[in-house]
Amino acid sequence: MPTLTVAGAGMGGLVAAARARELGVRPLVVEKGDRPGGSMLLSSCVIWRYRSFDEFRRQCPGGEPALQRLLHERLDGALDWLEGLGAPALERETGNRLTAGRRFDPRALTQALVRAAGPLRLGTPLGPGAVPPLVLATGGFPVALARRRGLLVRSNPWSDGDGLRFARRRGAAVAGALDEFYGRALPAPPARVAELDYVRLAQLYGRFALVLDEAGDEFGPDPVSWSEIDLVQAIADRPGGRAWYVVDEDTLGVGVRGRTVGAMVDAARAAGGTVLLAHELPFELPGAYRYAVHVQAGVTHTLGGLQVDKRARVLRADGTPIAGLYAAGVDAGGFAAGGYASGLAQALVLGLAAAETAAEELSSP
Ligand SMILES: Cc1cc2nc3c(=O)[nH]c(=O)nc-3n(C[C@H](O)[C@H](O)[C@H](O)COP(=O)(O)OP(=O)(O)OC[C@H]3O[C@@H](n4cnc5c(N)ncnc54)[C@H](O)[C@@H]3O)c2cc1C
Repeated sequence: MPTLTVAGAGMGGLVAAARARELGVRPLVVEKGDRPGGSMLLSSCVIWRYRSFDEFRRQCPGGEPALQRLLHERLDGALDWLEGLGAPALERETGNRLTAGRRFDPRALTQALVRAAGPLRLGTPLGPGAVPPLVLATGGFPVALARRRGLLVRSNPWSDGDGLRFARRRGAAVAGALDEFYGRALPAPPARVAELDYVRLAQLYGRFALVLDEAGDEFGPDPVSWSEIDLVQAIADRPGGRAWYVVDEDTLGVGVRGRTVGAMVDAARAAGGTVLLAHELPFELPGAYRYAVHVQAGVTHTLGGLQVDKRARVLRADGTPIAGLYAAGVDAGGFAAGGYASGLAQALVLGLAAAETAAEELSSP
């Protein structure tokens, strides 16, 4: 049986390799970076779904219903499988009434997955001459998107669109809008935001703030969604991809995901970010405010990507699969278009599907 090459050692790739081994297929994971774990390693590691499928459709109306159904129906069993690798969940609730899922320790989970995935070559990018059977799990193109649009990177530093380019050259179609991304507002430069601080320094209170662009004009969706992904994309569209979050005294005490707004403002200041007293802003404000925090949009992962079917096969525009080519994780598009869903859940479920399809196709005469 030929070796199944898996490009990328993030959640999608490691899951595909681990599941392939269980099914008797020999995988080899090649990883461009100098460590396994991809963006999972930097993440809060909450792997989740919407409680109801209808809610998923409401939140991500542009997504492909069949793919969303796959994610919704397979995630709970997939989480049990993941825990069975020896990385028990730390929490079994997300703390969000809209969602259900489990939180893991990202390091312990990465280690368990690396053990299960088998051979792994670090510092080895997928080459243009790689041959199928092949699972693309290179993490989409957040680095390329951030570079092109002048935004901050909030992902692993190696996901530059290699999987997308590889498959496009072989006739793959794309799903979803290639400009759409999930990201967070981070303290703008000169703040120093190290990758291990991507979670801690996220400014998650845009929906409680007066949001102004560099000219002092108020902008943004009304209302801002719970995930603020819509606001972050609106910030990305403004000059410099930057904005001011202006907050009043009362807002500083508001709690968001276990922290207060005041603590997030303090963290931005401590990181060297620009935090002004509101009256120091060069424009008039419509009321009494305390602080203005300068933020910039950071790209975590892209939402558009390769078109796949429920079996993780990469498709051409006419809907036919490209033989032996599979995609896992956020290399695939069409799951969360128009909204926000768990990238880790997508990577987990598609990684399993890719391995299962490859095993089936490799064993059939
Ligand atoms: C700060 C932060 C917090 C987050 N919190 C959450 C959360 O709580 N819940 C959630 O669901 N999601 C969260 N995410 C998003 C989630 O981490 C990603 O959506 C998910 O990890 C994507 O998995 P992936 O396997 O598709 O890609 P990645 O994790 O990006 O892995 C892709 C891998 O491919 C490698 N690679 C790139 N190019 C090549 C190449 N040419 N050849 C070989 N290898 C290559 C990369 O180095 C990387 O290791 C968070 C992300 C960040 C950064």
